[in-house]
Amino acid sequence: MFLEPQFKSQRSGWIEVICGSMFSGKTEELIRRLKRAKIANQKVEVFKPTVDHRYDKKRVVSHDANTILSVPVNHSSEILDKVDGFSVVGIDEAQFFDNDLPEVCEKLALRGIRVLVAGLDMDFRGVPFGPMPNMLAMAEYVTKLHAICKHCGNLATHSYRLTNDDEQVLIGEAQSYEARCRTCFHMGNILDFNARSSKNGAKKTKSKSKKKSNK
Ligand SMILES: [Zn+2]
Repeated sequence: MFLEPQFKSQRSGWIEVICGSMFSGKTEELIRRLKRAKIANQKVEVFKPTVDHRYDKKRVVSHDANTILSVPVNHSSEILDKVDGFSVVGIDEAQFFDNDLPEVCEKLALRGIRVLVAGLDMDFRGVPFGPMPNMLAMAEYVTKLHAICKHCGNLATHSYRLTNDDEQVLIGEAQSYEARCRTCFHMGNILDFNARSSKNGAKKTKSKSKKKSNK
């Protein structure tokens, strides 16, 4: 459990990153910390990229429908103009932000702001996602959360995509992804095929071979 450093006696700001796979509880943890900051009478503002329209345009919403109001922004640099008077800034779905996000967070921290960043550390291919690797490197505090592997029950670190789309950004929830451990993730469509076969019974299932495009 993350415990806040003593924010009243610390002069400078800092960066906290909450990362992990899908269904690992990142947004719940972000909301928990933001609510605690509010209880401590800190002025809190939350941002998210406009690309994340999963549930609600103006709220950060976790899977269990815990919510907090947020400001949608198109580019991370917009955050710098919107934080006057705030001592705590939350940033959700950080993986969808541009590569200027780490520099923006650094500037916020230097202004004395506590910056909380939540995001996916890896995309559906198991590749570090957007600005997250740099965020992890630059943060004072990193919390890596785990989901539970849908197939074996071990800790899950990967977000496995159940559809054939190849774009890195695909907004969707339970129907498009499942959490998997490293081993089950790399078993890929073998497990996927078995799961679909048992779900569909005798119904013919399409193999999920990912064809490389000629681009
Ligand atoms: Zn597994």
